Amino acid sequence: MKKHRMLIGGAWRDSASGQWFESVNPFTAEPWALVPRGSKNDVDIAAEAAKTAFHGDWRKLTATARGALLRKLADLIACDAERLARVETTDNGKLFAEMRAQLSYIPQWFHYFGGLADKLEGRVIPIDKPGVFNFTREEPLGVVAAITPWNSPLLLAAWKLAPALAAGNTVVWKPSEFSSVSALEFGELFERAGFPPGVVNIVTGYGNEVGEPLITHPDVAKVAFTGGDRTGEHIYQLAARGIKPVTLELGGKSANIVFEDAHLDSAVNGVVSGIFAATGQTCIAGSRALIQRSIHDTFVERLLALAKTARMGDPQDLTTQVGPITTQPQYQKVLDYIRIAKEEGAVCRLGGEAARRAECKSGWFVEPTIFTGVDPKMRIANEEVFGPVLSIIPFDDEDEAVRIANGTVYGLAAGVWTTSIRRALLMSERLEAGTVWINTYRAVSYMSPFGGYKRSGIGRESGLDAIREYLQTKSVWIDISESSPNPFVMR
Ligand code: NAD
Repeated sequence: MKKHRMLIGGAWRDSASGQWFESVNPFTAEPWALVPRGSKNDVDIAAEAAKTAFHGDWRKLTATARGALLRKLADLIACDAERLARVETTDNGKLFAEMRAQLSYIPQWFHYFGGLADKLEGRVIPIDKPGVFNFTREEPLGVVAAITPWNSPLLLAAWKLAPALAAGNTVVWKPSEFSSVSALEFGELFERAGFPPGVVNIVTGYGNEVGEPLITHPDVAKVAFTGGDRTGEHIYQLAARGIKPVTLELGGKSANIVFEDAHLDSAVNGVVSGIFAATGQTCIAGSRALIQRSIHDTFVERLLALAKTARMGDPQDLTTQVGPITTQPQYQKVLDYIRIAKEEGAVCRLGGEAARRAECKSGWFVEPTIFTGVDPKMRIANEEVFGPVLSIIPFDDEDEAVRIANGTVYGLAAGVWTTSIRRALLMSERLEAGTVWINTYRAVSYMSPFGGYKRSGIGRESGLDAIREYLQTKSVWIDISESSPNPFVMR
């Protein structure tokens, strides 16, 4: 097993404690790599390196030179996409087909934000006071803590690192303990692109041992987090102690709403893609399918027919459609939710158990599972499962669909399937979700803002909105009058 090292201050280091932990391949359930077990000591060194870089070599670069480095990195990622995708699939069990597509797309975030780096202009304010010149500067925050989950490790890191670096910040990145290997391999590309030492640091380890000291470190100015909402709540509280701004990209219980006037083949496809792609392990999983009652039974039959054909097996195989669950605890959680749904009285129409197929070997596989007869009040209709489990809920009209869709604590995404433009626009306005897809699902781009309403998060990643999350505005006042105003009166 390869022993990996962490990137801190431009050097590859073992953890201060000299300890490692195993990273496990979810398809074989066997350890395949050793990852350094970082701790507060490593965080302290990384934060110091990031602070030094922020005030030093990184600050001295022009914004154009910063952008050029980001674009160089983008080109290196593109060259290495296939290899990194293989590493991700080995580490987190997601389909190679999906990871390869993600890795090929990740360079766009670095190109886009690299292009923005030298366009972060301030404004001259036509101030209402005579004899005064007022302008603004857009400035970086300092050291950013980036904390990422296991489901799309490099994509979700790129969503943070690209705007953070473009804005002139430095970064300490803690990847998930379940998927750190690709992060460490990715780190080599920052070196090869020529980033000054300490601009990007990677400290691996557990949430309480690395994440918490990182968030509370006095030199960390901002926290950018993707993960579960409970962890997000805790991180928000830790960040609040230091009055640190946060970006929180959290979970969801997204509704995929199918109206009777929808193009049914596309809608069936979209609902299957929404929940079974990525084995349901995406924050945007369309885990609730809201189906208009008049087409409910026909739709369910078509859905079952397509879902039954899903090929499970080796995620490295390009023909596999549903891979394993990434972690053993998550596998158990998915099975627990299936049991809960059955106990609540939902009707299991497909799957409903661990997969025992020969092609699944000893991996953590769960059969694609579909429940009908789900009441919106059930736990299975409200809590994030993060696995291949779909709840089908019937509705009668638009008002009821909106009520059910908006009826959870989450608000990450929603899908609407209709051929009526009037209905599409009205629904897009009424749904409480950061992303609404009409007649499509699971589309994201570096150009379009992504984030959650309600308990699904705070702030936006991607698009022009994202760079604002990594900047602060300074207002500069210059007195150009020749008079001496009364010092005891506000100017
Ligand atoms: P998680 O919350 O368990 O862990 C995410 C990261 O936080 C990991 O790096 C983990 O080590 C770290 N962490 C855990 N406890 C911590 C603590 N006390 N202090 C600091 N850091 C801590 O999430 P996960 O299981 O890795 O990922 C799945 C979750 O992520 C799901 O809920 C999913 O919806 C969410 N997610 C959201 C988005 C989005 O963009 N909204 C995208 C992907 C995943």
